[in-house]
Amino acid sequence: MPCPLCLHSGDTLYHVDRRREYHQCAQCHFVFVPPQWHLSAEEEKAEYDKHENTVDDPGYRRFLSRLSGPLLAHMSPASQCLEFGCGPGPALAAVLREHGHQVVCFDPNYFPDTRWQERQFDVITATEVIEHLADPHTELTRLWARLKPRGMLGLMSKLVLNAEAFTRWHYKNDPTHIGFFSRQSLAWLCGHLHADIEYLADDAYILHKKRLNVGS
Ligand SMILES: [Zn+2]
Repeated sequence: MPCPLCLHSGDTLYHVDRRREYHQCAQCHFVFVPPQWHLSAEEEKAEYDKHENTVDDPGYRRFLSRLSGPLLAHMSPASQCLEFGCGPGPALAAVLREHGHQVVCFDPNYFPDTRWQERQFDVITATEVIEHLADPHTELTRLWARLKPRGMLGLMSKLVLNAEAFTRWHYKNDPTHIGFFSRQSLAWLCGHLHADIEYLADDAYILHKKRLNVGS
C-alpha cells in the first residue's frame, strides 16, 4: 500500500507485536499501521471516551504548556485559532481564550461542526491528533490550506527514535495510534508544505507558514 503520509509505494515491515504490524515508508520514514488493523469508528470512539482530558485538569494543562507557552509568545493579540481534534474537553482552546484569542473547536466525535473549512486561521493546533490520522497526507494538506500566510500549525505527537526503541515504546500500544512521525517524516512534511519547523520539545513543534507560500 502507498505511504499514508507521502504516498510513496515501497515500505518495509518495521515491527510486529501480538496485535498489529507496523510498516515504515522507504521515502519519508513514516511508520504506520496498515488499514486492516485500524479500529472501526465505534471502537475508536469507545477508546476516546475512556481518557477524557478535562479543561481544568492542571496536569494536562502542564503537559500542553510545552506547546501553548511558546505558541502564545509568537501570537498577535486576538488571533483566530482552530483547535483541530480537540476531544471532549478542549483544554488548549481554554488556555488560548484566557489570553484573549478566538478559538473554534473541531473534533469529528465531539465538535463535528465543519464550517471551519470555509475560514482562514492565524493558528491551528492539533495536540495528540496526528498519530490518529488514517490519511495524514490529505488531512494535513487540507489543514495547511486553512492557515493564513505567516500562520502557525502547532503539533504535539511523540516521535519515533529508532527500531530498537520502538519495540519498547508504550506509545505504539494505544490501538487508536496508527501513524508515527519522526524528525525525518516531519522534514518530508515541511518540504511538501513549504514550512519551517521549530522544535519546542521532543513531542511539541510548530510548523511556520512562510509569507509567500507556493504550496498552499
Ligand atoms: Zn512516506
